[in-house]
Amino acid sequence: MTSAPVYDVIIIGGGPAGLSAGLYASRAKLNALLIEKAIFGGQIANVERVENYPGFPEGISGYELGQAMLQQAMKYGLETVAAEVTAIELAEQAKVINTTEGEFRAKAVIIAGGAEPNRLGVPGEEEFLGKGVSYCATCDGPLFKDQVVAVIGGGDSAVEEGIMLTRFASKVILIHRRDQLRAGKLFQERAFTNPKMEFLWDTVVEEIRGDDKVSGLSLHNVKTGDKRVLEVSGVFIYVGLHPNTGYLRGLLPLDSEGHIPTNEMMETEIAGVCAAGDVRKNSPRQIITAAADGATAALSTERFLSQHR
Ligand code: NAP
Repeated sequence: MTSAPVYDVIIIGGGPAGLSAGLYASRAKLNALLIEKAIFGGQIANVERVENYPGFPEGISGYELGQAMLQQAMKYGLETVAAEVTAIELAEQAKVINTTEGEFRAKAVIIAGGAEPNRLGVPGEEEFLGKGVSYCATCDGPLFKDQVVAVIGGGDSAVEEGIMLTRFASKVILIHRRDQLRAGKLFQERAFTNPKMEFLWDTVVEEIRGDDKVSGLSLHNVKTGDKRVLEVSGVFIYVGLHPNTGYLRGLLPLDSEGHIPTNEMMETEIAGVCAAGDVRKNSPRQIITAAADGATAALSTERFLSQHR
């Protein structure tokens, strides 16, 4: 009977952080396995054009960037498996990762599982998911050709994806709970000069309405108290992200939002366990910083393994 291999390191998550960790770990000749539950590339796989990753002056599709990162890491021997992590054990000697595809063991772990979109938490949101409610403009935008859609949120995601939606929709109405966007100035400039974009300030959504699909939003102006119904065919929700760390509760210290505290070398409180990218506390949540976190985590892991042979 052959026993399952014990990897040097298992990397959880195949976004820029996990793939960069995989590249560095493989090039360091570590026996590395990367576990990804959905699309390699992670959140960037749904970004139509990445304009702020150095080396691509014309920008690059997020999907292509993710695939290129994957190929580069696999070229040096990174193994991958498509599976969801369900539970882990983080004993000092052996880390055990339980997944939907079975159990894997390693001497070290890099947690790079990224983040998922927050829900708005209003009536109609679950009911009309896929029937006008979306969290992915790149995936669902083309379904709303020549229709009026709303985008909820005031951050980079809401503004960037709102601008992208103007390619399909006849009008994009961005609804923000304050009177100032959180998004970066470049995105703001582009949004304010886009003739298809309109803005509703100081406004929150109370309900997403419809029969078999979305037909409108019940809105509340938090400054004036006015209430009204806005007719839209689709609503794209971008109200922030939460880290994929639910399976770590009770195993690792997490902050109130579920992020993992690390030191500057991406090491957590548990020996041989690093965290990188959007799961990490105080991450700037950029592709380049996630990639840097991943590289740093792999270097820390290499050092840990050399001290624990
Ligand atoms: P975010 O920066 O956290 O912005 C979330 C937005 O949603 C904020 O404007 C917030 O309002 C609003 N919001 C939160 N909860 C809400 C609620 N319950 N009801 C209504 N509005 C609510 O999230 P993000 O835009 O997804 O960006 C996440 C990270 O990724 C950021 O660090 C961002 O810079 C980065 N990112 C970068 C790029 C890029 O560089 N190309 C693109 C996308 C995202 P307040 O402003 O009032 O808090």
